[in-house]
Amino acid sequence: MYYIDPHVHMVSRTTDDYERMARMGCVAVSEPAFWAGFDRGTVDGFRDYFNQLTGFEPKRAGWSGLQHFTWLCINAKEAENVSLAREVIAMIPEFLNVPGVLGIGEIGLNKNTPNESTVFREHLDLAAKTNELVLIHTPHLQDKYKGTRMIVDMLQERKDIPPHRVCIDHVEEHTVKLAKDNGFWCGMTLYPTTKCTPARAADIIERYGDERIMVNSAGDWGPSNPLAVPDFIQELKKRGHGEAKIKKIVYDNPLEFFSQCDRFKFTPPK
Ligand SMILES: [Zn+2]
Repeated sequence: MYYIDPHVHMVSRTTDDYERMARMGCVAVSEPAFWAGFDRGTVDGFRDYFNQLTGFEPKRAGWSGLQHFTWLCINAKEAENVSLAREVIAMIPEFLNVPGVLGIGEIGLNKNTPNESTVFREHLDLAAKTNELVLIHTPHLQDKYKGTRMIVDMLQERKDIPPHRVCIDHVEEHTVKLAKDNGFWCGMTLYPTTKCTPARAADIIERYGDERIMVNSAGDWGPSNPLAVPDFIQELKKRGHGEAKIKKIVYDNPLEFFSQCDRFKFTPPK
């Protein structure tokens, strides 16, 4: 079955991973900007990273026949340096007319601090001003519910970003309703240890339905599995769900969300 991985940090994966993903049916990836494992020191460091995301990475994906899309931001983990964050936010528009850029992301909260909220709000200002889609990272484990609540509150304060243009990612059992019931798209991340397993994600689909929801591997430089979406497909098949329903979650839904961006030019597989 063809699928799209809507959240995967391919800069930290190998070309062999692209090859294996393609063999499993992956036809496109979307790659949010994220934390490199260390804090970048300058706005030029980010400019170079955005050049990699919009230049070399789509080319490398193409070697395996995959289409590559991307999102730009400074990650919440680097938001304590508010002045650098402001410089990065001011620089992002340099890339907003580059083909394959889908919007602002993954922005959000990490430790739910005041500086993170400030930088999150200023990213939202940019998204509203430039009419960009938004991809949101929600915090890990014990900070997740509170952080997701804070994010939803900040989004609801503003009328200039409609919820159907926002995806709240890394939802779990206790946050999926908060995102879905308020009209947002959501993403479930399939991780080997934290976040959702394929079985938990399948339970969530069975309980909350398949509207406005996608699954991703969030593969990065840490413990993660870039082939997690095929594991989820397998889990739904084992439970007796039909092809059309599975395809909706792993292919049609990301297409529908991304298609709201004019720069999303996707060529369906033959
Ligand atoms: Zn991520």
